[in-house]
Amino acid sequence: MRDMAAGPRVLLRRLRELMAEALEPQERLDRIVREIASNMVAEVCSLYVLRADSILELYATEGLNPGSVHLAQLKLGQGLVGTIAASARALNLSDAQTHPAFAYLPETGEEIYNSFLGVPVLRAGRTLGVLTVQNRTMRQYREDELEALETIAMVIAEMIATGDLARLTRPGLELDLSRPVSFTGLPLNDGVGLGHVVLHEPRIVVTNLFNEDSDAELERLNEALGSLRLSIDDMLSRREVAFEGEHREVLEAYRMFANDRGWVRRLEEAVRNGLTAEAAVEKVQSDMRARMMHMTDPYLRERMSDFDDLANRLLRQLLGRGPEAIATLMPRDAIIVARSMGAAELLDYPRDKLRGLVLEEGAVTSHVVIVARAMGIAVTGQMKGVVSMSENGDAIIIDGEEGRVHLRPQPDVESAYAEKVKFRARRQELYREMRDKPSVTRDGVAIDLMMNAGLAVDLPQLAESGAVGIGLFRTELQFMVAATFPRAEAQERLYRDVLEAANRKPVTFRTIDIGGDKVLPYFKGAGQEENPALGWRAIRLTLDRPALLRTQVRALLKAAGGRELRVMLPMVTELTEIDAARAIIDREVRHLARFGHHLPTSFKLGAMLEVPSLLWQLDELMARVDFVSVGSNDLFQFVTASDRGNTLLADRFTPLSVPFLRLLRHVARAGVRLETPVTLCGEMAGRPLTAMALLGVGFRSISMSPAAIGPVKTMLCDLPLGELGRLLDEALDSTADHADIRALLTGFAAEHAVSL
Ligand code: PEP
Ligand code: MG
Repeated sequence: MRDMAAGPRVLLRRLRELMAEALEPQERLDRIVREIASNMVAEVCSLYVLRADSILELYATEGLNPGSVHLAQLKLGQGLVGTIAASARALNLSDAQTHPAFAYLPETGEEIYNSFLGVPVLRAGRTLGVLTVQNRTMRQYREDELEALETIAMVIAEMIATGDLARLTRPGLELDLSRPVSFTGLPLNDGVGLGHVVLHEPRIVVTNLFNEDSDAELERLNEALGSLRLSIDDMLSRREVAFEGEHREVLEAYRMFANDRGWVRRLEEAVRNGLTAEAAVEKVQSDMRARMMHMTDPYLRERMSDFDDLANRLLRQLLGRGPEAIATLMPRDAIIVARSMGAAELLDYPRDKLRGLVLEEGAVTSHVVIVARAMGIAVTGQMKGVVSMSENGDAIIIDGEEGRVHLRPQPDVESAYAEKVKFRARRQELYREMRDKPSVTRDGVAIDLMMNAGLAVDLPQLAESGAVGIGLFRTELQFMVAATFPRAEAQERLYRDVLEAANRKPVTFRTIDIGGDKVLPYFKGAGQEENPALGWRAIRLTLDRPALLRTQVRALLKAAGGRELRVMLPMVTELTEIDAARAIIDREVRHLARFGHHLPTSFKLGAMLEVPSLLWQLDELMARVDFVSVGSNDLFQFVTASDRGNTLLADRFTPLSVPFLRLLRHVARAGVRLETPVTLCGEMAGRPLTAMALLGVGFRSISMSPAAIGPVKTMLCDLPLGELGRLLDEALDSTADHADIRALLTGFAAEHAVSL
């Protein structure tokens, strides 16, 4: 019986020799197609390469008219070759000329051939070209011949990717691999960065393609598969995943795939055809990815990424190494490109080399996005296909303002962005100059500008931004970026670091505000809630789980020993909630005192004003607390009954409306009347125009993201606040309909040269 795999193995051996010989690229290609044709007993073998202008050009042929090389062309999607490239699927036809997509290229002289087998040349799921064989007789190519051709196509993909064929390209034309591509998705954090791609999961470069002995190689593959299965079982049995949840589901899916007979069979077949185990993994994965890329079903796409992860694990297993050491590979202007990423992984990159983060997934509330925002780097999300289009080291531009990415940009795009970066840098320089200037309006009213923070990476910003303190420290972020509940010691350490860094500037810690859109992967919470924003969250949740609050309060009290401690409660709805929280705090104070702990020198308790019910009990509220902080993000969503995360409603209602500003003025005035400090720490504080309105209705202290302090300070230093206050009062007291407050404010700013 004929050994079915002998053919491809002999062919691969010949290819290896050809690759090693000192040949000109064209000569090498010509000899490769000749070898394939002869080995597969085909009269024709041709290679088409995809150019940057989406044209497939004939690069080499055995059997077709040699004069048509570099002349015969097909558009992507045109003819059989174009169809294969566009769909990333092979075509096996005994009577090619009757296929509806068949397009006849007279210069090639291919009219005499009937049967046709073509496979895409793929790398990381991307089509780089098409490899075909043809015969005169009407024959059906066997499955093993298809496999063999796919295997060879993979070797050719490596030649294209390593730039071997670039020298054959005519001047002015480029291969698809170097084509500029732009992506549009979600802007997730402002900033513009020019730099170079760092793939978060570096494509493992398989350099050893051909095996010496298929049986030994099969053994290697099976051993690696065995250890992979064991390591998944091991992960599944670990305590932290031994409960239901997303993480567990992913691992279960891995286990299923690792035992998937179809997958394993395809891997084994590629090894039998002469590839090394690692090259086989890459080949099978690339075929699969190319096919899946055309699927729209989100469930299947998700499964594809699971398969990708698994293949990467297997590759690492085979190559016997962990992920590359990050720091040594990083260019100085790294833009990380990832499908998705855990928050902690981002923190592993050296901050000083990061210019941006590009995610195929990612949403405003993703944890990694929260961390990236804290690190102050540009972020874009929902960039479909960006990972497979990128190579490590490619030039890339990220525009976090517009939600765009330009991969391998044209020189004109690059210079336009270089200008934009310069402009932004000049503006930053101006803001830096403002940093140590007092924050006082043109007519002499002092305003406290504070910053919002939540992680240790935020802390350097306190000095850099010129903030007078931290008006909102979102303690839940530490919980959100962790894999399990942070232990009491870890909480205490963070709070102590924050207070150290603040160097006696005031810091207001908010007790954990989880629930709603702030989910912890390891905490089941209330399960599926119909209206999570209105649900079991923030102080409601921590009062029902007092151990959580107690642990946090104790950590705060210990960390603030010898200093002032300021704590505020999120989402207060009823005054009794403040009483209940205070009782817990008092008990902790007594407990620590009994054991001789060093206590804070003073303690201030505040409430966030986010739920409208508090508006009709401001007197009682202010009698109970030391300060009030308006959370305008939540307050606005509840006052206008519009979900803060719903993009359909994002621009529908404005906080610069008469009712909302009347409400804010009412709160600010109550603070003055009742001698209770009032501040505001929602997004409204961070934009110069809305910040101007806040000052106009009476706020004298606001807290915002550190990057906003420069622009807001620039605005207020030019602001005649008394005059603005009178103008706004007039508008808010008027009963005439439709006062356009935004126009009123921008008109006022223009008239008084206030920069917004
Ligand atoms: C707010 O609601 O305005 C606020 C500051 O809290 P968060 O955005 O964390 O809900
Ligand atoms: Mg809130």
